[in-house]
Amino acid sequence: MAANAEITEAAEITKALQRATKDFNLCPNRVWAVARSLPGREKNLPFLIPPTEKNKSMVGHEGHKQCTFDFCEYSRLDFTSVVQRHESCTEDPCERLQGLFPSAILEKAAIDGSPTAWKLDGGSMIQPLQRFMAISHVWSDGTGTGAWADGEVNKCLYSFFKGIAKQFQCEGIWWDTISIPKGKLARSRAINKIQDNYEDARITLVHDCFLRNWEWVDAETACFAIIMSPWFSRGWTLLELAKSPKVKVMFKGALIKDLDEDILAKAEGSSGRHRIATKAIVNLRNKRITNVNDLLTVLGPRHTSWHRDIAIISGLLVGVEIGQVSTQQDIYQRILTQIAKVSHGNLFYNSATMSKCFSWCSANLLDLPLASSESALRVQKNGEVVGTWSVVKLDRIPDRHYIWTDTHPLIRATLRLALMDKDNHILLVEPGVISVTRALVVKISKKVVREVSCQFVGSVKFHPQQKLSEADFFHREAEVRIGHLEGMVEVEGGAWSQVKTWSGDKRVTNSNQLNRPSISGAGESRQVGQWKTDFKSQEWTEGITTQPEVKEKEKEKEGQLRLSTANVDGGEKGDPNVKNQYRWTALHRAIWRGHDEEAQGLIKSGKVNKTIQDKFGQQAIHLAAERGNERVVNLLLQGQDVDPDVRCQHDGQTALHRAAWGGSEAVVKLLLRAKAEPNIQDSMGWTSLHWAAQYNHEAIAKHLLKDGADPDIQCKDKKTALYIAVDRGSASVVELLLEGKADFNIQCKNNKTALDIAAEGNYTSVAQLVLLWAAKVGHEALVKVLVEKDANVESKCSRYSRTPLSWASSNGHEAIVKLLVEKDANVESKDSRYGRTPLLWASSNGHEAIVKLLVEKYANVESKDSRYGRTPLLWAAGNGHKAVVKLLVEKGANVNVKDGSGWTILQVTAKKGHLDVVDRLLIAQADVNAAAAKDN
Ligand SMILES: [Zn+2]
Ligand SMILES: [Zn+2]
Repeated sequence: MAANAEITEAAEITKALQRATKDFNLCPNRVWAVARSLPGREKNLPFLIPPTEKNKSMVGHEGHKQCTFDFCEYSRLDFTSVVQRHESCTEDPCERLQGLFPSAILEKAAIDGSPTAWKLDGGSMIQPLQRFMAISHVWSDGTGTGAWADGEVNKCLYSFFKGIAKQFQCEGIWWDTISIPKGKLARSRAINKIQDNYEDARITLVHDCFLRNWEWVDAETACFAIIMSPWFSRGWTLLELAKSPKVKVMFKGALIKDLDEDILAKAEGSSGRHRIATKAIVNLRNKRITNVNDLLTVLGPRHTSWHRDIAIISGLLVGVEIGQVSTQQDIYQRILTQIAKVSHGNLFYNSATMSKCFSWCSANLLDLPLASSESALRVQKNGEVVGTWSVVKLDRIPDRHYIWTDTHPLIRATLRLALMDKDNHILLVEPGVISVTRALVVKISKKVVREVSCQFVGSVKFHPQQKLSEADFFHREAEVRIGHLEGMVEVEGGAWSQVKTWSGDKRVTNSNQLNRPSISGAGESRQVGQWKTDFKSQEWTEGITTQPEVKEKEKEKEGQLRLSTANVDGGEKGDPNVKNQYRWTALHRAIWRGHDEEAQGLIKSGKVNKTIQDKFGQQAIHLAAERGNERVVNLLLQGQDVDPDVRCQHDGQTALHRAAWGGSEAVVKLLLRAKAEPNIQDSMGWTSLHWAAQYNHEAIAKHLLKDGADPDIQCKDKKTALYIAVDRGSASVVELLLEGKADFNIQCKNNKTALDIAAEGNYTSVAQLVLLWAAKVGHEALVKVLVEKDANVESKCSRYSRTPLSWASSNGHEAIVKLLVEKDANVESKDSRYGRTPLLWASSNGHEAIVKLLVEKYANVESKDSRYGRTPLLWAAGNGHKAVVKLLVEKGANVNVKDGSGWTILQVTAKKGHLDVVDRLLIAQADVNAAAAKDN
C-alpha cells in the first residue's frame, strides 16, 4: 500500500473512532474490540460507524467515560454484586420468589443428564422434547447469579421471562441463574452440557439492557446496536450464539425480533454498513471452531466475569470434554491437540509458556498472536509441534540487531542466557521469509530421528530486518520438532553441525518454496495497546467492497466443518432409524439442533424413514419447517413419502403452521409450491395466517393470502387473523389485511371486532395505520375514537407518505376532514408521489365543502403540486369544478397563474372544454391576453 493511502486510511479509522466515542458515547475499549473482530478488521470501522446525523438519539454506553482503548473500567465490576433487576414492579418491596426451583430436583436432573429447564411454575423440570426458552443475558444487568440465595429471584423478573416464554408457546425456561446447580459433580455435568440447552431450546432470548433501550428503527441500525451491545462482547455469547438455532432479540418496548429472519436476512441489497455488521454477527452463527486463529478472532475481543470461563467456552466451542477438575492449562492443551494444528505466526508471543511438550505455547492460549498464514504446523498428541522452518545459525545475526524494548524482563533474561550459549541454540524463521524481523530461539538436542528436535525458549525481534539469501550458508530449511528436552541427548560439536546433518545438508532452494505456507500476516500482533502499528502490518484480504455477502460456498464449508456433536442416543451406528426413548431419530435431532449438513446427509443417504413420528407425533418436516431449514424441507418433500399436510398429534399443526410460526418465508413458499393447504386449523383453531399475524410476518401473510388463505376464519376463541394482528400490534400484517379482503366487521372474542380493539389504542403503530385506513375509506366513527385517543394525526402511509387528512380530502370525507382539522392536522403536508397538499387533492377532485374547510384553516391557495406545478385553482378549473373555482377565486386565488409547462388557466380550461368555468374566470378578470410561455 502506498504511504499516502495508508495515512488516509489511518485517518479515516481515527475519525470513525472519534465518531463512535465522542458523538455516540460508546466505550473506546468496546469499539476497538469490535473493530478488531470485524471481517477485514479495523479497516472496516469507518464503514461500520454510522454518520452522526443518522442516529442522533442513539443511546451510548453508560458509565464508560473513563475507559480507554485498552481498558474498560466496567470490566473491573464484580457482576455478582449487582442488585437484581426489577421488571415494571408495582409492589414495593417487590416479592421475592421463595420455595421454587428446589435445588435437589435440579441437582438430580443435572447428574442424570436430563433437561435442566424449569417448567414455568418453577416446581419441576420439563420433560424431554417439551418446548422451552433459553435465556442469553448480561449479568451486569442484574439478571445473573447475584448475591441472593440459591434459586431466589425477583417475582417480577421471573414473571417477565415467563410471559415471553408463553408468547412463544414454551413450557419451560432454561436460565443459568436458576438452572446451574451448585454441587460439584452436578455443576460440572451441567457445564459440560451447557451448549445442549441452547441447541435444544425452541427459542433463545437475548436480554441486554443496552438493547432494551434501543428503539427499533430498521434492521441496519439494529445490527449496529447488537454488535455494540455488552451482550455481544460477552464470552458466553459466543457459545450461545453459535449453538442456538433460533435467536430472538428484545428491543425497546419489549419488542422482539428474530435475529436471522428480521435482522440478518435483511442485509442483502442493503448498505455496506449493514453488510459489515451482519457479517460480524453471521460469523459467529453456527460456528464450530476448527483452528487457533478463529478461536483468537472470536474470543480475543470478549470478556467474562471469570477468567476460567474463557477456557471453558473455548473448550465447549472446539468440542472437548471439560473434566470436573480441569485446570485452565489442561483445557487449552486439550483444545490444541483436538485442533491439531497452529500457524507459525502463533508462536511469536511474549509471555509465560506452558509446561513440558507444550512449552511452545503461551500459558494462556489467548496470549497467542493472531496469524493470517495457514496453519501449517502439526500439534502431536503429546503436545509437540512439528513442521517446516527456516533454520538459521545463531551467530548469523549479530547481537546488536536484537531489540528488547517490548520483551518481558523475565523472558528477556532467559533469552539472553540462551544467546550466550550459542553452541546449543539456533533460530527458527518462518519459511519463505527473506527479510527477517523476528525468530524463535530454540535449544537443540540430539534425537534419533531425521528432523531438528528442540525446545522452545522464546521469540526475538530484529532491527533492521535481516536479509537471508538463498545461497546463505547459515540458513536452511528443515523439518523441526519443538517439544521438551527431557530424555533427549545433548548435542556434541555444536548445534549447527547437528542441523546440517539432520537436514541432509540441503540449502534453501526455490523448489522448496512451493510447499510453503503463505505468511502474509507475519508480524501481526493483537495487543490492543499497539493498535497504531497494526494499521501497517495488517494485510486485509476481506475488503467489504469486494466480498460483502456470505457466499453459499462458505456456508457449505462451515457446515461441513461442523462435525456432528449430537450424541445421538441410538441412531449413531448402523441403522439411522433407531429411536431414543422419545422416539427421536438421528434425523430429528440433527434438524432440531441445526446440524444442517448432517441432516441433509442422512436424507440423501436414502436410508432414513422420513416419516417417523416422535412422541408428540412430529415428523422431520415439522421440525425443519419450524427451524426454517429450506434445504432440508426441500429434500424431505422430494419423493412421495412425506405429506406436506401431515398434522402433528400434539398440537394439530402442519409444517406450514410451523413455518409461519418460525417466520421462514422461503419454507412457506416451498410448502405452498408443494400444494400445502393454507386453511388447515390447528388444535387452537389457528390457521397459518393466524400465526403469521401473531408474529407480524408480513411476507408470509402475503404468500398465504395469494395462495388462498381465507383471512376470515375464526379460531376457537373466535379471533380472526386481523383481530390477532391488531391485538398483537403486528402493524405490517394489519396494513396488509386492511388493504386486502379481510372482513373487519366480524364479531370476534367478547363480541368485539378487530377495529374495536384498534380503537383501544394499545399499539401506536397499529392505531396510526388504522387511522390512515379509516380516513381513506371514510370510517368516521373509528377516526373519531382514534383521534380522541390521541392517535397521531400526522402519521403518513408507507407507500405515498400521505396523511389521514390527505386521504380524507381526496376521497371527499367531509366529516373526517372536519375532525382532523379540529385536531390541528397539518393542512400543508404534501405526499411523496404527486406533491399535493390536501387542498390540491380536494380542489382537483371537486370536493367543495372540504375546500371550504381547508381554506378556512388558512390552507395556502397558491401552493403548487410538484409534478405539474398547478395551483388548486388550476386543478379545479382544469377538471371543471365550477363551485370550487368560485370559492377559490373569492378567497383571492390568483387567476393569472401558469402551470409548470407555462399554460394559463384559460388555456387549460378552454382546452378541456369547460366553457362555463371559462365564463366565471372572465368575470374574475383573468387576463385573456396573457400569452402562455409556450407560445413565445
Ligand atoms: Zn468501557
Ligand atoms: Zn420487582
